[in-house]
This record gives sequence, structure tokens and C-alpha cells, in this order.
Amino acid sequence: MTARAAPAPARGVVARILPRSAVDGPGNRAVVFLQGCDFDCLYCHNPETRALCVHCGECAPACPSGALTARPAAGPERPFGLEVAWDATRCVDCGACVAACRRDSSPKAVAMSAEEVVASLGRQRAFLSGITVSGGECGLQPAFLESLLVASRAAGLPGLVDTNGSTDYAALPALVEAAEGFMLDVKAWDEDEHRALTGASNRAVIANLRFLAAAGKLYEVRTVVVPGSFDAERTVREVSRALVDSGSAARYKLIRFRPQGVRARWRGLPVPDDDTMAALAALARAEGVREVVVV
Ligand code: SF4
Ligand code: SF4
Repeated sequence: MTARAAPAPARGVVARILPRSAVDGPGNRAVVFLQGCDFDCLYCHNPETRALCVHCGECAPACPSGALTARPAAGPERPFGLEVAWDATRCVDCGACVAACRRDSSPKAVAMSAEEVVASLGRQRAFLSGITVSGGECGLQPAFLESLLVASRAAGLPGLVDTNGSTDYAALPALVEAAEGFMLDVKAWDEDEHRALTGASNRAVIANLRFLAAAGKLYEVRTVVVPGSFDAERTVREVSRALVDSGSAARYKLIRFRPQGVRARWRGLPVPDDDTMAALAALARAEGVREVVVV
């Protein structure tokens, strides 16, 4: 009998790796941002991670340091007949390419294996409590996400998954098992409001909230508060009830909308005042959530 070849290890499209962060989960963590997202949130703070690069070449002339080269290329994945190559050694991280891109993308996303991501952390690993995989939406690359969580855990770094909740995690038990926990955004409880905020349904999000809470895998739930954009009171109440009903000890983080980093057309969205945030936090606590954080 001929032995089957082992499947090729999954590679992910990585937008960037932040070597350490104190605000993306407990302790000091490296954050791995994956490229591509299926939501289009009005208040997206990483809009350059939303779309995969289509190699149109428009950003290359904007680069002041010659780090981008547009070369002729053929094939269905190169609809513009170009391939844009990024030379990290020449990049001065000025952001001009991202500013020039009209497609919410970046020419600097790279394909990496899980082992390459872990190896890239280098000696810094000794000072980390774990990694957090974020995006974009990391759940859109489930095979790579699982392999990254496994490789990271094997290296002594437990992995948190920071997700918009659009992926059916109940159908991915090995991925869920490999994760230390999940940080889930619940952007609005009402389906129509969620569609208006993100362009997508929230059915999978709410199913994930219940599933991950019951499975003891929920580390944190987050809601960004934008006055007038959705019924924040109802969202906070329903999320709190779901947490309490499942016995989850997950904390609930209420995030004040901030315009910094948001696409120009949405920077004028209103910022909630202190009283609004305090009232929402009090509501969550009154519903029985043990840990409520306002940022
Ligand atoms: S990053 Fe944007 S502008 Fe640059 S090649 Fe990709 S899609 Fe085109
Ligand atoms: S961030 Fe890097 S690749 Fe992009 S324009 Fe600036 S130097 Fe060029």
C-alpha cells in the first residue's frame, strides 16, 4: 500500500505581527493580525486589514522608499496583470501605501506558516504570556488559525482568538480545543441594527456567544458603543443575560467609540459621554455580570 502524502501545512495571510501588547488579553501578548474580514463595520479601526490585496498596483508609486514593485504577472488571481512585491528591508513603515489603497487593503500582508509566525517572535517569546490572533477576521482562515494555536501552544504560548463571531466555531472542535479562549465582539443584538452597522447578519455571532460561553471558552465579550447607531441598552442587557444564564465568568468590555483610525466618512460618528458608558456598565452589573470594564 502506498503511504499517503501528509497534507501541506496551512499558510495564512498575515497583515502584521505586533511583538507585544498589554491590551489584547491577559498579560503581555504578541498579536497576530490576519488579513481579510467579512464585516464592514462603520467604526472599523483597522480598515487596511479588511480586504485581500488584488495587486492592482495603485499603491506602488506612493512608496517613498522603493519598497513596492509592480511587476507583470498572469493568471486568474492577478486580474490587473500585475504582482505587487513588498520588500520589508526597504520599508520605512510610513503608511503611504495603505493611504493610497482604495480597497481597504495593504501590499504588506504576507503568506506565512504557523511555525514561521511563532519563529518570528524570536527571543521575545520568553517574555510573553501568550499570543492573540486578531484581524481582519481570523476565523476566515480556520485551518491556519488552528495550526497557529497548536504551534503557539507547543511553544509555551497559549492563544486567544479575537473574533467578530461570523465563523461557526461549534463546527470546529479542534480549533476551539486548541484555543486558550475567545474574545468575541457583539456589535448589536438586533439583526437589522447589526446589518446596518456591519453589513452582515449577527445570527452566527449570537450562536457563538451562547456556544463559547457554555463551553467555558469565552474570555471576553466586547461591544463598541456609538450613540444613535443601535440600541446599546438592549444589546448590553441581552449579552449580559446570555453570559449569566450560561454561568460564564467572561468579562464584558464596553468600548467607547473613538474616531481615531476610522475611515474619513465615519469619523463624525458621535462619541458617548461618561454618563452613557457608566449607565451601560451599571446595567450589565445589575444583570449579574461579574466583571464589567469600560474603556
Ligand atoms: S494594497 Fe491596495 S492599492 Fe496596493 S496593490 Fe493591493 S489592492 Fe492595489
Ligand atoms: S509603509 Fe513601507 S511599503 Fe508602504 S509606502 Fe511606506 S515605505 Fe512603502
